[in-house]
Amino acid sequence: MAQLIIHGGAGKIREEEEHRKGIQEALKLGWEALLNQGPLEAVLAAVCSMEDNPVFNCGFGSSLNLEKEVEMDASVMLSDGSFGGVAALKAVRHPILVARKVMEETDHLLLSGDGALKFARKMGFEPFDPATEERLKILEEQIQSGNLPYLPRLSRALRENPSQVFEKWGTVGAVARDDTGVIAVATSTGGISGKLPGRVGDSPIPGAGTFASNFGGVSCTGHGEEILRLLLAFRACEGMQFKTAPQVLEELATWANSRGCSCGLIGIDWRGNIGFAFNTQSMSYGFTDGKRTVIF
Ligand code: ASP
Repeated sequence: MAQLIIHGGAGKIREEEEHRKGIQEALKLGWEALLNQGPLEAVLAAVCSMEDNPVFNCGFGSSLNLEKEVEMDASVMLSDGSFGGVAALKAVRHPILVARKVMEETDHLLLSGDGALKFARKMGFEPFDPATEERLKILEEQIQSGNLPYLPRLSRALRENPSQVFEKWGTVGAVARDDTGVIAVATSTGGISGKLPGRVGDSPIPGAGTFASNFGGVSCTGHGEEILRLLLAFRACEGMQFKTAPQVLEELATWANSRGCSCGLIGIDWRGNIGFAFNTQSMSYGFTDGKRTVIF
């Protein structure tokens, strides 16, 4: 039996219905690809669909950095250790497909900034502006109130105002496993709104926001700096050697919370158990094994 689980970010999700629709559509496309083309195409199809949907914080509709520009992180990994990632990449529509090219066409694991953009153009990715009015409004509100979630030093520098906190992540991720046990994981994000230009989060770093091994595959969402510190995806996959995905992810989300890390995780272990957990108010996600489909 094959399995697919995807997420559309964790936090306080405002547009719940739009998220659900987006998850449903991405899950459907991913599942078709899983049956016809395998786990890699499945996670790419699911993530591309969410990168096209401005309700999610990735691709078109990504969060803006402090200079009101989009810089995206994305990565893909297979259970045989193949990995490709891009960091702080501007002006493409589908960063996850550039990450795939890094995996398949280069001798490297991770390309960043101008170099990543040059590589994308060389690979035929057309110029595209992923910024939206909605994200600009969010950033301007945050700057005005001097309250940028997860950027305490910057917020303090802007001014002290503890009033309204708008907490929302919308990174997307997908984990797929076929009936032979091959696992693929993909994660894509615009990062944190108001971040400094050049900031790289957990999503493109193997072991932090994305990881796959023979024990399982995991994609994370949440506060990137803290996920990086704890190397959550690697820990989760290691844990899946002896425990099931639901057990490991639940334990890790609780442990991460005790370390001040707000996050959500999705994963599939080597036996085919699907797991998800979060310590935030909510997380948007969906999964299917062909028999049972759940959308939240
Ligand atoms: N983990 C992402 C980051 O920090 C944000 C998110 O999950 O939405 O870049």
